[in-house]
Amino acid sequence: MSTHTFQISIPKDDDGFVGRECLECKRYFKLKPGTGLPTQHCHCPYCEYEGDQNTFWTQDQLDYAQSVGKQIAYEKLVEPLLDDLTKSFKKLESSTRGGFLQIKVNTTRTKPFFPIKYYNESELETLLTCDNCKLEFAIYGVFSRCPDCSQLNAFSIFQKSIEVCKKQIDLFNQFPHDKDVELANLKFILSNAISSFDGLGKELRKKLVGQFPDKPKNLFQNIDELEKVLLQNFSLDIKTQLSDYSFLRQMFQVRHVFEHNMGVVDADFIRKVPSINHLVDRKYPLTLNEVQMFLGLLTDLGKLIEDEAKKHYT
Ligand SMILES: [Zn+2]
Ligand SMILES: [Zn+2]
Repeated sequence: MSTHTFQISIPKDDDGFVGRECLECKRYFKLKPGTGLPTQHCHCPYCEYEGDQNTFWTQDQLDYAQSVGKQIAYEKLVEPLLDDLTKSFKKLESSTRGGFLQIKVNTTRTKPFFPIKYYNESELETLLTCDNCKLEFAIYGVFSRCPDCSQLNAFSIFQKSIEVCKKQIDLFNQFPHDKDVELANLKFILSNAISSFDGLGKELRKKLVGQFPDKPKNLFQNIDELEKVLLQNFSLDIKTQLSDYSFLRQMFQVRHVFEHNMGVVDADFIRKVPSINHLVDRKYPLTLNEVQMFLGLLTDLGKLIEDEAKKHYT
């Protein structure tokens, strides 16, 4: 039996993306051929699986390729054989014409119908461009690794969230507002920034098991514990590396009392930050300047952790 090889191209969607499915976790993503690295190797953005690009076909793509393949195989292999056969019969017919035994051959042939199994690629939640290799890809969820260079996107997602917080400040600065609205906005921005930082932390704990402990649960909301972990496991001393660590720490507490104590400074806050003793039992007077400073420090902290974490994952 001989083997024949045909090349079948898999269609791209309207935006130029091709769907992919991981062999291991079976989850779907898309990438844009022509962007990223010139490689045949692919990493699953969700799990640890990696392998040749040919191991990432979706079932829809395989069904499509098989249906197109049947049609091509018929046209290229079966049809020429049938043509040859017809020719031989015709030859036989003409060689026996006028003889004692005449052979008459009638050939009617209808081409079989091979339906092509067309499909649509799915819509995904987050469209990303890798900071490192510029691959354009789309995933479910937010955090992932780049399928080409396997760089973790958690840091760029975090930095983008902080950029959004900074834009929110610019936006709300453009309009006159009263004190209550101002405080509500500042509280909202402060809370969003720490939530983004916490999201970064949760992703890092999944990727760097062992470097970041399981407890406390919300490590990236607990700056005192995080400071210890970074020093012990990464030799990163954020107390000295950041321009104003004590202010950053104070703002984590401010966020805590706004979340859990209506913004009122309690004994726990004073115990952690004795310098604001005069504010005990009063609402913390959060200012725009403080939130801006905090966003700057949190950006710096994210970059310090990124530089260290990169040394620990491949
Ligand atoms: Zn996977
Ligand atoms: Zn990349």
